[in-house]
Amino acid sequence: MYRSHTCGEISLKDKGQEVQLSGWVQKIRNKGFMVWVDLRDRYGITQLIFDEERSSTDLMERAGKLGREFVIQVTGEVIERESKNPNIPTGEIEILVSQLEILNTSRTPPFTIEEETDGGEDLRMKYRYLDIRRNPVKNKLVFRHKVGMQVRNYLSQASFIEVETPYLIKSTPEGARDFVVPSRMNEGQFYALPQSPQTFKQLLMVGGMDKYFQIVKCFRDEDLRADRQPEFTQIDCEMAFVEQEDILNIFEGLTRHLLKEINGVDISDFPRMTYAEAMEKYGNDKPDIRFGMEFANLNEQAKNKGFNVFDQQELVVGIAVPGAASYTRKEIDKLIEWVKRPQIGANGLVWVKFNQDGSLKSSVDKFYSSEDLQGWAKETGAKAGDLILVMAGDKDKTRTQLSALRMHLGNELGLRNPEEFAPLWVLDFPLLEWDEETQRYHAMHHPFTSPKKEDIPLLETNPGEVRANAYDLVLNGNEIGGGSIRIHDKKTQSKMFDYLGFTEEEAKEQFGFLMEAFQYGAPPHGGIAFGFDRLVAILGGQETIRDFIAFPKNNAGRDVMIDAPAKLDEDQLNELHLQVKL
Ligand code: ASP
Repeated sequence: MYRSHTCGEISLKDKGQEVQLSGWVQKIRNKGFMVWVDLRDRYGITQLIFDEERSSTDLMERAGKLGREFVIQVTGEVIERESKNPNIPTGEIEILVSQLEILNTSRTPPFTIEEETDGGEDLRMKYRYLDIRRNPVKNKLVFRHKVGMQVRNYLSQASFIEVETPYLIKSTPEGARDFVVPSRMNEGQFYALPQSPQTFKQLLMVGGMDKYFQIVKCFRDEDLRADRQPEFTQIDCEMAFVEQEDILNIFEGLTRHLLKEINGVDISDFPRMTYAEAMEKYGNDKPDIRFGMEFANLNEQAKNKGFNVFDQQELVVGIAVPGAASYTRKEIDKLIEWVKRPQIGANGLVWVKFNQDGSLKSSVDKFYSSEDLQGWAKETGAKAGDLILVMAGDKDKTRTQLSALRMHLGNELGLRNPEEFAPLWVLDFPLLEWDEETQRYHAMHHPFTSPKKEDIPLLETNPGEVRANAYDLVLNGNEIGGGSIRIHDKKTQSKMFDYLGFTEEEAKEQFGFLMEAFQYGAPPHGGIAFGFDRLVAILGGQETIRDFIAFPKNNAGRDVMIDAPAKLDEDQLNELHLQVKL
């Protein structure tokens, strides 16, 4: 038996008992006549004491030779500590060691394995298994497990069945590149790793499974923007005989359940907003509604008043920044520089200070009267003490730029409190999205998403205006889930492939199996998938998903610990009938 207790559970009520513990040496304080050791395992830290007066010379000697991260097993008596540590649960006791067994030695770790560490990100990733011994990392993995359990509980109780789907499949159209796997047995042929189990979950509905879910890995070969992983986890769900409303209800319920069980907060209100409204009010399809600064269209108030910078523009749009009228010229210049950076790409910012005394001062006083500016204040909802910031230009671009500024200010002003949760459904996404590069429409969600019935005629005349039965669940400015009601008949699905520019052969080759299945009694169905990594991070009050993944990849998609991806040797390449062109 290695242990009678864990390192996190012994307290004064165990005083006088003999116990056995196993764990890692976190810290050693050696005074010669006494040696203290902090012994750590997953559950906590227990202090060990070796005392010259009460222990044999041999034991004292061996204790003196312990090093950091040695794995040891001890037997000893629980005694009351002289100087207690109220900060840890075992802080009132220590173990007077009578037997010490060194189970394994350790090289000196490359960084300190404590709450605070001196190890930088790269080093910690290279030795991730050591990093995982640290509380902040370990606790996040435990937290992730708890969220996963709650997801499973809720969905199982709602009659969902977890079904696994294959990883070695054919391309799935989620809008990214596929990772591919060569097939040794099928010369010259490749599997694709699923970007999501989309087609399989639809086939499960044809198979009569009715309510499916899976906590599942998905793979997308994308250029990694900040905080994305090439492999990530989804809570993937699908239901048969449902309308959009049924899906919204069930998954609103799941989110409410998680917020309650994990964070102890009751959220009754899940507001809804259309995509069009979200873009107009926040310039963003995943608005953070924990704070205001809603967009105000100032076309009427600001155009044709002699300021020709605005006159030619499609959109003049402003926000009121609360309490920011006191910004100095320097602070405002900094904001202007911020929006002019290439990442944002704006031409500049017009500002209006709505001073505490009610007066208005702006960067465009030459062109606008005080009454004009009052009109801007009214539209943006600015109050005395606020700063109005205005941008102008092409509608879509300007909204995106102002949205970035709004989020930046939300962060700067501390308006994005990680302990506050503001969910929001965004509905009625466009079905299609114009792609400049290929000069073609693409499915905004994926090609299996159904158009709104009343918009179907627009497919012929104005495809960009067709709305889909597609929805996203947004939490604190992050898209945490997205899905749609699907097409479930062959005719409409073929038509959709056609609109998306697939030839009949291409559609058949890629999705023939699905079209065939649709001819065997496919029920109406729809679903949703949640980004599990992101959801866990947000519930955990953090913005980075990497911390909640045991073995994440870096920004270049590399696992620096196992050093992957890597080259294949010649034999393996031959076996796979592959030749590397470099
Ligand atoms: N497969 C979709 C995705 O990964 C989710 C869905 O439509 O259910 O985004």
